Amino acid sequence: MTKADSPARRAGQSSVALLIVGGGIMGLWAALYAERRGIDTLLIDGGSLGQGTSGGLLGALMPHTPDVWDEKKQFQFEALTALETEIAGLEAATGLSAGYRRCGRLMPLPKPHLRVIAERRIPDAERNWNQCGRAFDWQVIDRTPVDGWPAADVSGAGLTFETLSARVDPRALISVLTAALRTARHVRIIENCTADQIDAERGCAILSNGETIAFGHCIVAAGIRAFPMLEALGPALPKPIGQAVKGQAALFRTEVDPALPLIFLDGLFVVQHETGMVAVGSTSENHFVRPEGTDHQLETLIARARKMVPLLEGAEIVERWAGLRPKAIDRDPMVGPHPDAPRILALTGGFKVSFGLAHSLAEAALTLMAGGAPSMPSSFLLESHLDVAAR
Ligand SMILES: Cc1cc2nc3c(=O)[nH]c(=O)nc-3n(C[C@H](O)[C@H](O)[C@H](O)COP(=O)(O)OP(=O)(O)OC[C@H]3O[C@@H](n4cnc5c(N)ncnc54)[C@H](O)[C@@H]3O)c2cc1C
Repeated sequence: MTKADSPARRAGQSSVALLIVGGGIMGLWAALYAERRGIDTLLIDGGSLGQGTSGGLLGALMPHTPDVWDEKKQFQFEALTALETEIAGLEAATGLSAGYRRCGRLMPLPKPHLRVIAERRIPDAERNWNQCGRAFDWQVIDRTPVDGWPAADVSGAGLTFETLSARVDPRALISVLTAALRTARHVRIIENCTADQIDAERGCAILSNGETIAFGHCIVAAGIRAFPMLEALGPALPKPIGQAVKGQAALFRTEVDPALPLIFLDGLFVVQHETGMVAVGSTSENHFVRPEGTDHQLETLIARARKMVPLLEGAEIVERWAGLRPKAIDRDPMVGPHPDAPRILALTGGFKVSFGLAHSLAEAALTLMAGGAPSMPSSFLLESHLDVAAR
């Protein structure tokens, strides 16, 4: 779709083929793919690009376990393997680094029965993580390859070591995507401007800068704010279609080897970055009083992380950070047209795995927008989430 296909311009009203509301990781990938398709696009963000939850500290890109293979795991596997090539291409084009590395992941096994479960997954990985010329391992090992990463006493029954996980520096990736878009021919960006109202019938949005913009399609990638915006397009529902879940994280100044695998145990992530910094996270708070700011829950997590990785004991904490993750009612990402307003599409709900999936979800949203059928689990469709909320 080019400028010529944009909706007719009414008096005093500008128009675009595609309006993207929200410039977090979801909206930025959508804008990049719109550029590649030559779609006349306006990307707006209420603040600066990446200022929402996407501007966090962790950037873990972790797969689901390789057993009980299904459509969701296949989608994620393909997304995680494709991301590496996407990022390498963008880094080459922009001359910037996203801090990406396929570092693998260590998961301590504190109890013998967990080792039995982990060992059962070895053949699953041989089968399911070996596709399209890419093969990744799920191994069970007796001790950590690097002393103290993690401490021996948390891995009494050994550790799982898998080689599919990767990590990226979230802020660096946002900068890479933003730099790529700054030279775009078809995408215009307006920051510090919100979409205050989306009028599905007239196909236009009223922006906080006073402008009314007509659109052919609108992708709502507004993170946690996307849920009420999408709900407003249809009949009232007994339940909300998604919620905000607060997460807190911290960044330590260290000089660890950036090639170390990330560590994951019982919801605690330890992610070493290219800079030598180590990010630790994250809480999952369904209920919270203050959306912003960190509190004692982060201090508890930091204490756990220091026990698990003793080298963090004396390391300086350079940042404490909190954000609100968009969690759709069905936990899955939320993508695609609203059944009552088919020109308006969702692109949100990535919850804890957005960074590994956002590019593939954005591609799926654009395919749906063009009337195509992406290879994506049907439970990701906005329609499916609306059904769950209506029950
Ligand atoms: C502590 C923590 C740790 C995490 N760790 C990981 C991790 O290791 N790996 C991982 O994959 N994910 C992780 N996540 C989840 C991930 O950060 C989020 O799922 C992801 O960033 C969501 O991206 P988004 O683009 O949907 O939303 P956001 O990044 O929140 O972007 C939405 C944007 O929309 C804008 N906006 C909102 N309303 C409007 C409006 N009306 N008009 C215009 N603009 C608007 C906002 O300003 C914002 O910039 C973590 C989250 C937290 C909180």
